[in-house]
Amino acid sequence: MPKDQINISPYPTFIPYGKQKLNSSDINAVVKTLKQPYITQGPTVTAFENAICRYTGAEFACAISSGTAGLHVACRALGLTEEDWLWTTPISFIASANCALYCNAQVDFVDIDPETRNLSSYALEEKLRIASKMKRLPKVLVVVHFAGLSADMQRIKDLSEEYSFSIIEDACHALGGNYCQEKIGRSIWCDFSVFSFHPVKAITTGEGGVLCTNNEDLYHKAKLLTQQGITRDPNEMELEYEGPWYYEQSTLGYNYRMTDFQASLGLSQLKHLDEYIETRNKLASHYYNHLEKLPLTLPLANTLDADLNAFHLYVIELTEYAPITRSELYAGLTRLNIGVNVHYIPIHLQPFYRKLGFKEGDFPNAEQYYAHCLTIPLFVQLSRKEQDFIIYCLSEFLTK
Ligand SMILES: *Cc1c(COP(=O)(O)O)cnc(C)c1O
Repeated sequence: MPKDQINISPYPTFIPYGKQKLNSSDINAVVKTLKQPYITQGPTVTAFENAICRYTGAEFACAISSGTAGLHVACRALGLTEEDWLWTTPISFIASANCALYCNAQVDFVDIDPETRNLSSYALEEKLRIASKMKRLPKVLVVVHFAGLSADMQRIKDLSEEYSFSIIEDACHALGGNYCQEKIGRSIWCDFSVFSFHPVKAITTGEGGVLCTNNEDLYHKAKLLTQQGITRDPNEMELEYEGPWYYEQSTLGYNYRMTDFQASLGLSQLKHLDEYIETRNKLASHYYNHLEKLPLTLPLANTLDADLNAFHLYVIELTEYAPITRSELYAGLTRLNIGVNVHYIPIHLQPFYRKLGFKEGDFPNAEQYYAHCLTIPLFVQLSRKEQDFIIYCLSEFLTK
């Protein structure tokens, strides 16, 4: 019998790797807003932004149409242009790097730390030292808190002061998590924190995102960019204010607005966030307890400073002792109705990035991780029965 064929019947229904949880109060909140006079550009977006500030502790929050738009706007607000470099990690969603290309800037990557799977601050330091000699330092660094575990922000912040670059935290995996006992999004060690509310993330607005910052000037720049670069504030006018109808376009912006009914969903979902993170941590520890003895590398729950993991994903890595390959395990679990996934194909190995000159071997830790990683289901409503089925199947596949 091939190694990925096993004598187990598939789970009766498909178990996805992640999905949203919406209850009737979330749905009622949206319906209520749909009956209001303003379904976009109304008061609910502001109320949601204020709630995000209260939750994260950031001074300013700017709601936006997606996490990707958030990264783009953050780059623009920080003044990234075609003369600049942006560095990020190869192990992320492509949006973490594409934001540089939207600004016609150049992209480069910093290899990961195999233990945390986050951008390695040691590799960063090394690369900065070399780049400094070549006068090719980055203007912006996009740091991703992979799978919900915060990166080494204090060290990265220290390096940003030494080599003067800005930091965007791509915190799309990490809403609800903590670093140094501060909520991720508090934005102490970065210029912007960017979140996404796509349905697989901790809480959802359908599509949507938010930028957090403590810098008022950056906040105003970001806000302006989300609304076509248009200001109606007489204090910000370049030309003479002509009357209440008057507005000015001062920069080239976008329509990156979030609607009010999305914001009402976000407001309602935010009330469940802490409970959802607790559930995700409980599910993760159940996995730990039952997968520990298998030939797998399991994700770190915490580091000294990353004190609360948001557990957006639960990624296992097959060790050299596994009796089955990652592809065989992927196929085997899929056949049993278990929705596994691979996060992520290293960005630099995408055809589009290869055309920019990247190739296999450029970031060995990222490539090594990619060759053996597999994301197994983790979401708030994952039942004990489903989770135990997943654990049972993994044990069967991975025991010789
Ligand atoms: C989801 C995600 C994004 C993009 O968010 P969207 O809201 O889907 O545009 C960016 N970076 C990371 C790490 C993500 O997981």
